[in-house]
Amino acid sequence: MMNSENKIDQVFKLQKEEALKLRHSSKAQRIKKLEDLLRWINTNQEDIRKAIHADFKKPYTEIDISEIFVVTSEIKHAMKHLKGWMTPKKVSTPLTMLGSSSFIHYEPKGVSLIIAPWNYPFNLALGPLVSALSAGCTAIIKPSEMTPHTAALIRRLVEETFEPKHVAVFEGEIETAQYLLSKPFDHIFFTGSPAVGKIIMKAAAEHLSSVTLELGGKSPAIIDSRADLKDAAEKIVWGKFVNCGQTCIAPDYVLVQSDIKSDFLEALVQTLKSMYDTHGKGIEASKDYARLVNDKHLKRLQHLLSDASMKGANTYFGGQIHAAEKYFEPTILTNLTPDMEVMQEEIFGPILPVMEYQTLNEAITYINQNPKPLALYVFTKSSDVIDQVNSSTSSGATVANDCVLHFLQNELPFGGVNNSGMGKAHGQFGFLAFSNEKAVLKQRIGLTATKPLYPPYGITSKKITQLLLKWF
Ligand code: NAD
Repeated sequence: MMNSENKIDQVFKLQKEEALKLRHSSKAQRIKKLEDLLRWINTNQEDIRKAIHADFKKPYTEIDISEIFVVTSEIKHAMKHLKGWMTPKKVSTPLTMLGSSSFIHYEPKGVSLIIAPWNYPFNLALGPLVSALSAGCTAIIKPSEMTPHTAALIRRLVEETFEPKHVAVFEGEIETAQYLLSKPFDHIFFTGSPAVGKIIMKAAAEHLSSVTLELGGKSPAIIDSRADLKDAAEKIVWGKFVNCGQTCIAPDYVLVQSDIKSDFLEALVQTLKSMYDTHGKGIEASKDYARLVNDKHLKRLQHLLSDASMKGANTYFGGQIHAAEKYFEPTILTNLTPDMEVMQEEIFGPILPVMEYQTLNEAITYINQNPKPLALYVFTKSSDVIDQVNSSTSSGATVANDCVLHFLQNELPFGGVNNSGMGKAHGQFGFLAFSNEKAVLKQRIGLTATKPLYPPYGITSKKITQLLLKWF
């Protein structure tokens, strides 16, 4: 550890020095870094697939979409828009400031720290890096220790693409993250659990480093009686069970209107079979279904399941576990009560509780009694229901008639609110997270609109202030 502490000290110092130079970095210099990153990813796609698959048997198609494509599209989007984002923005001048001109200057914050989780280990380390490089920052990445193959691959990517004074990677356990957090970073971009998010924010407070906290929590999905049940079931099954349920914006639980509950449950089961059990050999035989990341998470999910059954929940579908393989069958629970742990903590695995409600207000009240979700999904053909859900709840995102997909919409801010996060990522919002929006005001020399207000205060300054208070 001592060795890596010395190395961290060295790299941090190098990056601090370089960050001063990067304040002048041009669009072309930043684009060059993004191009180098894109090239490495494109030429090493097979290695990326192998590393992530080795960590938790994630299917190659899911890797292509949710790890590689997400990052390459973020890079291309940034390259296309960087000029517009970087250009200082002129703002209007009020009469009281006549003679001056004002701009917002997007200054790189400086040295940034990116702490990534294991569940999308490539995407969630490299996506924020794209924003950091676009903004002209240096970056130190700390990948998750739970996905060691991907962490090693990210280190190789960075070593082969960047100089340590620009980007560096430190693998390691929590102690490495803690040592990194003792440094006075200019910005910390953390993706992970709300519990660790609080630790990060406390550490950041020591240096008043700014933070982006991309956290998690329970994201509900409302199924209104006017939903298209087959369509809703397909989208929920995909959003929930992709990555074996280990997705921050997976629908955590379903609130279904009671008159369509049994039809919807049936539609869920039919969809599960058609997506993961086409040959009738059981879902475990499907190559399209990933595994849990480790035994700790398997035990945690097993406990959620047994706590729920002990308190009266019914396993409507699934429940099979093959611990040696870290296989956890997609599982649907009914007959739930709010005191069950599965209804209290973020599930982050392939268990889908389906609770019923009578009126939309009841569903909204239940959601509002709990911490603000990262995403809120509503399935219905009624635009009134969509509007009512959107305006009566608070969450990082409202998505109607789909789930998870908003992550891929680079024009939208991605992030949570309070317990589900702080600050926004993706596209221009990611660029802004790593930028200081500096106010620049240029005044004329000589007479200005404010000079008549300078002391000694007399009748003129009194008249002007009276006019100001009355008319401006
Ligand atoms: P985690 O919070 O356990 O770990 C995330 C990172 O923090 C890891 O790199 C880990 O090494 C580091 N870390 C852990 N404990 C630490 C400590 N005490 N001090 C300093 N660093 C520490 O999260 P996880 O289990 O890797 O990921 C799952 C969580 O992440 C879920 O809550 C999920 O919802 C959330 N998540 C959020 C998003 C998002 O974009 N909002 C995306 C993916 C995951």
